[in-house]
Amino acid sequence: LTVLGLESSCDDTAAAVVRRGAGGRGTILSDVVLRQDALHAAFGGVVPEIAARAHAEKIDLAVRQALAEAGLALRDCDAIAVTAGPGLIGGVLAGVMCAKGLAAASGLPLIGVNHLAGHALTPRLTDGLAFPYLMLLVSGGHCQFLRVEGPDAFTRLGGTIDDAPGEAFDKVARLLALPQPGGPAVEACAMTAEAPLRLPRPLLDRPGCDMSFSGLKTAVLRARDAAVSNHGGLPRAVRANICAGFQDAVRDVLAEKSRRALARAPVTAFAVAGGVAANGVLRAALRDVARAAGVPFVAPPLALCTDNAAMIAWAGAERLVLGHRDDLTLAARPRWPLDEGATPMLGSGK
Ligand code: ATP
Ligand code: FE
Repeated sequence: LTVLGLESSCDDTAAAVVRRGAGGRGTILSDVVLRQDALHAAFGGVVPEIAARAHAEKIDLAVRQALAEAGLALRDCDAIAVTAGPGLIGGVLAGVMCAKGLAAASGLPLIGVNHLAGHALTPRLTDGLAFPYLMLLVSGGHCQFLRVEGPDAFTRLGGTIDDAPGEAFDKVARLLALPQPGGPAVEACAMTAEAPLRLPRPLLDRPGCDMSFSGLKTAVLRARDAAVSNHGGLPRAVRANICAGFQDAVRDVLAEKSRRALARAPVTAFAVAGGVAANGVLRAALRDVARAAGVPFVAPPLALCTDNAAMIAWAGAERLVLGHRDDLTLAARPRWPLDEGATPMLGSGK
């Protein structure tokens, strides 16, 4: 089963071809990501209008490249999968329109995929995980625990009630005059800390798996201002202690909530995805939690943890195997919670 996947829900225009072999083994035949960072850099964030326009301009190129790198023609594929949400609606629409055009022209089945399902199913592509497993999706825009029970069955166990950790890393970096993206900068700075600052662990005292990270950002702001008024500036050592203190707090919150999520019901493994999972300190702590719970810890390679189309092609293949497909009425959805079901719009799945 060979599936072409398209992804355009944020600031990466991506296309990929993935094969699902007998026994469910996945092979990535091509994985093209055309990044838009340069277009948005001057604005300090993704500008939806600019992103949508760039997706519309580049999506055909991404598809052509993905097919060429796979050495295949469109007719060699068995289906076309596309992110139908959640995300910036202009970008999602660009991908969905392109996929509909390709499906109409080729007669291939069209499959709408939830972007979060793409992330959540990636460990099956990379490591062949069996259901059910626990997934912690932790990125610039998301932070949630999902129990993945099937290609179409997800239970949300909890998540952030405000900022995502990646967003918090980025804001902390900005507060401390460190470069963007903030995650790697804060991690590097924290390595030199001699006396990490003690910051609060938000929501740890409350039961359940919900998390909060926006208060930490405020705590960092206060620590910075205190340092500036004491020292007339921000000495390197103080900055390192603030970074380490912030990172330790995020680590402890993620670790304790992961412990609780793993205790809820038996799973085959604990998997993480998202850019924040690249953090060495966080990763080590989560690995320890998995070990203590007696389950394998799985972290797909970073390129497959962040936004890509291979995960969309793979999720499409999994849906196709279940017999799901969509038609040209497939809707693009800006919001689409995973536990609402992985079918794009009521009535559009067949
Ligand atoms: P989403 O895909 O959820 O819409 P996104 O595209 O911003 O959001 P990713 O590309 O998965 O998310 O991850 C980017 C985020 O990961 C950024 O906020 C970045 O600071 C963070 N990040 C990257 N490396 C590290 C690190 N070493 N430590 C902590 N955070 C990191
Ligand atoms: Fe994503």
